[in-house]
Amino acid sequence: MKLSPQSLRTYSPPEMGVTINYNHEKCPAGVDKRRRLYLTGSPHTPGLILAYCHNCGGSGAYHLDTRRPMPLTAYLPDGDSSTFEVPAYTKLPFSQRLPLGSVGLAWLMSHGLSIPTIDRYGFAHDVGTNRLYIPIYGQEDRVVKYQLRKLDLADQGPKYLNVQDYLHTPTCFDGLLYSNLSPPRSISTVVICEDVVSGLKVTQAGYDSYVLRGSNLSAEIALGLVRDAQYNTVVVWMDNDSDVIRKKAHDISEFFKLLGAKVRKIDVEADPKNYTENGIIGVMLDVIK
Ligand SMILES: [Zn+2]
Repeated sequence: MKLSPQSLRTYSPPEMGVTINYNHEKCPAGVDKRRRLYLTGSPHTPGLILAYCHNCGGSGAYHLDTRRPMPLTAYLPDGDSSTFEVPAYTKLPFSQRLPLGSVGLAWLMSHGLSIPTIDRYGFAHDVGTNRLYIPIYGQEDRVVKYQLRKLDLADQGPKYLNVQDYLHTPTCFDGLLYSNLSPPRSISTVVICEDVVSGLKVTQAGYDSYVLRGSNLSAEIALGLVRDAQYNTVVVWMDNDSDVIRKKAHDISEFFKLLGAKVRKIDVEADPKNYTENGIIGVMLDVIK
């Protein structure tokens, strides 16, 4: 069993190379009164805390500093399993970030994102790759992943580099974006989109959105959106321009139906970032009756 970073953070962290044992609160193997949860400060990686419970056999890890350089893996978009070597300089995104440049700003504005939306979201320019830095937030607004989107036509790499912190256990709250309106047009509806800009466009139109950052959705995340985030109506709005994506949108829709959600699949030509806010509202009102 995997112990979540959130549950481990409730114990005082040990120093580097030191092990401390605690009673495992809410240990699934039964009440632990013999301090069988061992937390060790990694002797190799500063700030990395490793945990193991000798009662339930659960293990986990977390890092003390949420602004650390993330251990990175990057992969090409869906359908291509080959990995893309991340240049060393992109391993320090926080120190390498510059304010959003004019090219990035123009690209975001060309898709209809408002200045307040752009400012609030925290887009930046990644110096190392000369790409747009797009953070993905988890709970408590912590950056758990980020994307580097190419804007330079001379860039031969894939459109997006997806970079993730492998110590972070993914949840449905990673990439969940909340409506800009208070209250939102519907508190029980979430719109599944492929990319962050589309997701933000949906929030400007008054709906919550979940951003896939690709076109795949795991069963766990889908279940989380229904059970933990409490959405009972799911609108799947993905790019409609290829058979592969249409098939994935279909499969995602069918899975949400199995989970008992009310599901609407949008079959319009383009994804939300290419619609005006009023256009998005029109499409939504059309499918949610
Ligand atoms: Zn335990």
